[in-house]
Amino acid sequence: MTDGSVRARIAPSPTGDPHVGTAYVALFNRTLARQTGGQFLLRIDDTDRTRYQASSEQKIFDALRWLGLDWDEGPDIGGPCAPYRQSERNAIYQQKVDHLLESGSAYRCFCSADTLAKAREKQKQDKMRLGYPGTCRDLDRLESHQRAAQDQPHVIRLRVPAEGETSFVDQIRGEIRVANSEIDDQVLIKSDGFPTYHLANVVDDIEFGITHVVRAEEWLISTPKHVLIYQALDHPLPRFFHVPLLRNADHSKISKRKNPVSLDWFREQGYLKEAILNFLALMGWSPPDEEEVFDLDRFQQEFNIEKISTGAPVFDLVKLDWINGMHIRRMEPQVLLQRLADEGFLPPSVSPEDAATILPLVTERMVRLAEFRDRTDWYFADPIAPTCEQLIPKKGTRETSLCALEGARELFGEISPFEPAAIEAALEQLLDQHSLKKPQLFMPLRWALTSRQDSPGLIEVIVVLGKDRAIERIQRALEILVTTP
Ligand code: GLU
Repeated sequence: MTDGSVRARIAPSPTGDPHVGTAYVALFNRTLARQTGGQFLLRIDDTDRTRYQASSEQKIFDALRWLGLDWDEGPDIGGPCAPYRQSERNAIYQQKVDHLLESGSAYRCFCSADTLAKAREKQKQDKMRLGYPGTCRDLDRLESHQRAAQDQPHVIRLRVPAEGETSFVDQIRGEIRVANSEIDDQVLIKSDGFPTYHLANVVDDIEFGITHVVRAEEWLISTPKHVLIYQALDHPLPRFFHVPLLRNADHSKISKRKNPVSLDWFREQGYLKEAILNFLALMGWSPPDEEEVFDLDRFQQEFNIEKISTGAPVFDLVKLDWINGMHIRRMEPQVLLQRLADEGFLPPSVSPEDAATILPLVTERMVRLAEFRDRTDWYFADPIAPTCEQLIPKKGTRETSLCALEGARELFGEISPFEPAAIEAALEQLLDQHSLKKPQLFMPLRWALTSRQDSPGLIEVIVVLGKDRAIERIQRALEILVTTP
């Protein structure tokens, strides 16, 4: 722990579905640790009991592991600094805060919520800075001690120096200086006895030997308070990196009202973990050669945390779809097939051989794995019959469609063996013989065979369906054309 290598962490709060922002920050932290032979820790920040959700923790573990963002120490695997859940570390926070009370860096505050609300109202009226008015700052130590011993409700606050300024270096943004008069006497221990995020976070980062704090820029505003707590605990600062927040299209902080944010959703849609990591990496970093599609290994080799951008990256699903499609097409067919099976996208009735036959036909157009079922339904099941309207292309008539399908039925019947070159020749012959335009032949055939507008290539479709099934479907379409008024 003290050999000079990086110790980085993520500290999600278990308050709901696993958030894409957690994966984003985890990616940078873990990569940094891996690049330097250091460790990546997972801590669970569960001190906010009002927002706590019991099922959330496991979901976070599952989602991060699914992405391959595994950790070296954490609540579920233990480690030298256990426990890694804040709710199990209360005794440690108490001990630290006792030390702060002792040294005078913190004090008890007995102000009621009502008193504080009134003080705030007055500050507003007087157009003064809003914040704790300092009522209990100079309370006699003995009195403070006695009132606490009588169980009078109170919080414990940090005594922020009235004068001077607090400064630190953000490794991405440079030096940041804040006048102490702008920093509130932060609550460290709440009246329920639980620590606030600020205290627990600093104590844990110290206890866990965290050397690099990489987190979202929304915490930048809290960092001066953290710096003061480090100083009060007489401990050197870690290196801070505040990475840009993911944003909605309107540049507000990413939110579930405007974007999918649950990692579970991305998994259910059939985004590949490779694509999600690639996409998240691009949100804060650009590869030197501007080649936007890459894997985690390459990212690990080339990523430089100091080159993280300070822009406001917009979370663009269209871009993620594009990246996902690129990764789908880069994958070895066997690997992709296995992935489809592992992620539950292969219908159980489908044999591996059948799936392997059909997969190359659909990968070219597939954006999300969840589409596999829909895109291959025509092959695995009997699709709903097309309508007469669908069988007649815009630039055609009922007659041209009848002519095309009747011709195809006949010529296909004569082909043996039923092979691509012969099928292609038959289609050419049909175009010539009946002076059909390509859409007049291909569109009704496509609809007849797949009941879809965007099927894979027609010849491939005909080949995999085989002669009998192809002719059966053409026959069915002909009946629709003939019988529909
Ligand atoms: N619990 C905080 C969060 O939910 C951790 C912030 C930090 O990394 O310091 O993001």
